[in-house]
Amino acid sequence: GIRFEKVVKRFGGNVVLRELDFTVAPGERVTLIGPSGSGKTTILRLLMTLERVDGGIIRVGERPLSHMERGGRLVPANERHLHEMRKQIGMVFQQFNLFPNMNVLRNLTEGPVHVLGLSRDEAVERARGLLDMVGLADKIEAHPSQLSGGQQQRVAIARALAMRPKVLLLDEVTSALDPELVVGVQDLLRDIARQSDLTLLCVTHEMHFARDISDRVLMFDQGQIVEEGPPDQIFGEPREQRTRDFLQAVL
Ligand code: ATP
Repeated sequence: GIRFEKVVKRFGGNVVLRELDFTVAPGERVTLIGPSGSGKTTILRLLMTLERVDGGIIRVGERPLSHMERGGRLVPANERHLHEMRKQIGMVFQQFNLFPNMNVLRNLTEGPVHVLGLSRDEAVERARGLLDMVGLADKIEAHPSQLSGGQQQRVAIARALAMRPKVLLLDEVTSALDPELVVGVQDLLRDIARQSDLTLLCVTHEMHFARDISDRVLMFDQGQIVEEGPPDQIFGEPREQRTRDFLQAVL
């Protein structure tokens, strides 16, 4: 799971997260919604270790991510700790971020071989299984530039799963796709989420996808949770005016 404990993040004088607390249970699927600038992407970037906390602690699985234990005390994480922890965390971005100079197979085997220490054969077998699952077995030799956006995003999903992460982060995964490709990628992710025991944290502007994929939705505004609950409640009978206004504006 994921746990934020009194997490503070500021950029200069702009306090984006102010002692934010929330947890995602192991295997739970949670979506963050809320207006632009409310801090959703910052939360994902902290988990990806692209940003550091200014206060509080982030835990992933049993261990702190932002910190590490030294002589019974918690001290800020060093690069080595972050590297170790990142193995548990998979991510899929808005822009597919495939390695452009490598074919699909290499995109999927690079991490497992070099970071996890799998043998080439094991990594290839794993890659083939995942490409089957995302429906791209026939593209194994292709280069990213030869694929559609939807296909690239499927490869990016397979690449993330090839690392067998405990936690999967999805950051606006369909917002760069042509409209006709969106549903296919969303359905794929929904099926993966339902069939696996992955802990999922998703940021999306697409409310039907949020409804489809989540066990729980957190509505953010100004770095704070305004309201949370199962999707049927948040989208069907939101309690807070802020949530109603937001949904009215986006639906
Ligand atoms: P969106 O839905 O538009 O992606 P968001 O909810 O993901 O918005 P964030 O991207 O987390 O919001 O931004 C939260 C706040 O932090 C904004 O006020 C933004 O300007 C600020 N911010 C984010 N990253 C930086 C940065 N690197 N430097 C300065 N300010 C930043």
